[in-house]
Amino acid sequence: RTPQSKHRLNFTTTAKEGPPPEHPVEVIGRIRDYPDNKKDKSLSALQVNFDYRSLRVRTDIGYRDFTLDGVSLSEEEDLDEFYKKFVESRIDGVKLGDKCTIMMYGPTGAGKSHTMFGSVKQPGIVYRSLKDILGDENSEKVGVGTFVQVTVLEIYNEEIYDLLSTNNTGGGFGFGWSKASASKVKLEVICKKAKNATFISGTEAIKISKEIQKVEKRRIVKSTLCNERSSRSHCMIILDVPTVGGRLMLVDMAGSENIEQAGQTGLEAKMQTAKINQGNIALKRVVESIANGDSHVPFRDSKLTMLLQDSFEDDKSKILMILCASPDPKELHKTISTLEYGAKAKCIVRGPHTPLKEKGAEDSSSSAVILGSRIAVMDQ
Ligand code: ADP
Repeated sequence: RTPQSKHRLNFTTTAKEGPPPEHPVEVIGRIRDYPDNKKDKSLSALQVNFDYRSLRVRTDIGYRDFTLDGVSLSEEEDLDEFYKKFVESRIDGVKLGDKCTIMMYGPTGAGKSHTMFGSVKQPGIVYRSLKDILGDENSEKVGVGTFVQVTVLEIYNEEIYDLLSTNNTGGGFGFGWSKASASKVKLEVICKKAKNATFISGTEAIKISKEIQKVEKRRIVKSTLCNERSSRSHCMIILDVPTVGGRLMLVDMAGSENIEQAGQTGLEAKMQTAKINQGNIALKRVVESIANGDSHVPFRDSKLTMLLQDSFEDDKSKILMILCASPDPKELHKTISTLEYGAKAKCIVRGPHTPLKEKGAEDSSSSAVILGSRIAVMDQ
């Protein structure tokens, strides 16, 4: 590790004098309901601790405990309650100039898009935060008016598309859906500005929320063997509040499953899936290298991580990682890998601190707390 290393400045790994370490990544587990056709919940592999901060996963060989910053069960908390509890205060901060990235992580079908976009009856984070930031006559809160810049991007196959571009002539976007390649508007991450802002060429920004709804419908979805509807692209909605310098990045990530699980067999399909997963894989490496205190953090390995570099590096930026998981025992290995990922992200520390490797991804110390506590079985 070189003392000149950029990342060493932000993410030191040795104990030093100074302010206490800060955890820029808050990790919340959002456990979805069973799908309607699986009403037998008695086999749930997940238990939530009474304090709603720890999850216990039952495996064939015993229990594993994960401590997060919060756990939310969708059968107990609808999107309205979830938003108020975990998201609203961050949106208030953005209106005052904070930078916040909210990312949905988890396997396909775990409820990422549901939490992010919701439905007409139960709007998700995107619409609620837009309403809170902009303000409207029905909102109790005062918004920041119309000076909000909205950018909507899709990352598919390592290409970035501007979903708000007027050059998109209704044919859909990306693989399989475009009527003509001319209807795609690809963007490049050009360079880093001098200070903490990723610059993307030629994005078109709008000021109204209704457009977002149209955009969500245009997302690229394609069936795979693991789910009737598989989300294969990363969708990023960026809300800038120029008057105060606030920025909200909402990231609905592609399914975190790997090539084998997706059941893709052909070489072309495999290569495509590899590219689709590139963002997920690269982000995992980024999280691991920051958490391990590596001198080199591979942000440049994917378009997704390039776009998220500021979220990790900017001292003023906070990240809310929402881990979406299913209580279904059949999804157990995916749930565990999702929780392991989140536990690692939770280890990221800014400022002076002790080496993270010693803390480990899984919170062994939390087991004692859980064992001595009442465990509420989530589905009984
Ligand atoms: P992902 O984006 O993680 O692939 P989705 O959000 O598309 O998953 O969820 C898959 C399906 O399950 C969708 O039909 C969605 O409406 C439904 N779903 C997901 N989470 C919930 C929930 N908490 N309550 C009700 N339905 C949900």
